[in-house]
Amino acid sequence: MPETPDLVVIREVLLRRVLGARIEAVEVLRPIVLRILEPAASAHDLLAGRTISDVLREGKFLTLALDDGGWVVLNFMLAGHLRLCAPGERRLARDYLVLQLDSAEELRYHDDKGMGKVYLTRDRSRVPAWAEMGPDVLDPGWTEAAFVQALRAYRGEIKGVLTNGRLVAGIGNAYADEILFRAGIYPFRKRTSLKPAEQVALYHAMRGVIDEAIVVLRERMGDDIHVKVRDFLQVHNKKGQPCPRCGQPIGEIKVAQRATNFCRRCQPGSLVRN
Ligand SMILES: [Zn+2]
Repeated sequence: MPETPDLVVIREVLLRRVLGARIEAVEVLRPIVLRILEPAASAHDLLAGRTISDVLREGKFLTLALDDGGWVVLNFMLAGHLRLCAPGERRLARDYLVLQLDSAEELRYHDDKGMGKVYLTRDRSRVPAWAEMGPDVLDPGWTEAAFVQALRAYRGEIKGVLTNGRLVAGIGNAYADEILFRAGIYPFRKRTSLKPAEQVALYHAMRGVIDEAIVVLRERMGDDIHVKVRDFLQVHNKKGQPCPRCGQPIGEIKVAQRATNFCRRCQPGSLVRN
C-alpha cells in the first residue's frame, strides 16, 4: 500500500499535473470500490463539471478537493493506486474509475485487489476511520515530548501501535519495519517494556526514516505515481539478505498474512508472550 512517503510524492505530482483541471466526464468501470456518502447522488452528479481545487494528504488518505466543496477521498489499502494516462491509453482490467480531465489527461484509479475505497462526500468526517485518525506522522507540531506522552495510552506490541493509525497516522507495514530497525527495537515488544530512551529513539527514527524516504522517492518516482519503489528499504521485504548494520540475515515473521522483517541481532527480542 502507498504509505506517507509515497503519498507525499504522489500529491506533489498531482498538484503539478491536475490542480485546476476540470473533470469533463466520469466512468465507473467497477463500482465495488466506490462509496457515495451523499444521498441520491451518482458519481456523475458529484464529479462531472467540477474543478480540482486542491490535493491533500492526511495519514494514509489522499483527497482531491473540488471547487463546489465536494471531496474525493482515496484509501488505497493493499493494492490501490492512481495512474495518469493519455485518453487513448489502453484500459487495464483492474482500472475501476476514470476521471477524464480537460487537461487532456485521465486520472484512473487502479486496484489489483479491489480492497481500496474511493469515497465521494461533502463531509470527510463521515469517511470510515477518518475521525479516529491520530496526528499525522509529518505534523510539525508533533514533538518528541508529545509523542512520548501519547505513547503511554498504548500497551500492545509496538509495531501494531505504530500502524493502527490512532497514535500516529500514516505509518504502514513497510515503514514501521524500517522505523523499528533504525530504533533497534524488536517489533513485537510490548510498548510497556520500552525504556524512556527507546521511546525517544523511536520518535527520531520515525521522523528520520519518513523524511529520508521522501527525498529518495521524489528522485526515483519522478511523475510515475503508479510505481511503488521499495528496493532501497533496509529490512522490509529483505528476508534472508544481510542486515546493512551487522551482516546477519534479515528475519521474517508472518502474522495474519502480514510480514514483519527485522534483524535478530540489532533488534533483540522474542515472540514469547506473557
Ligand atoms: Zn543487524
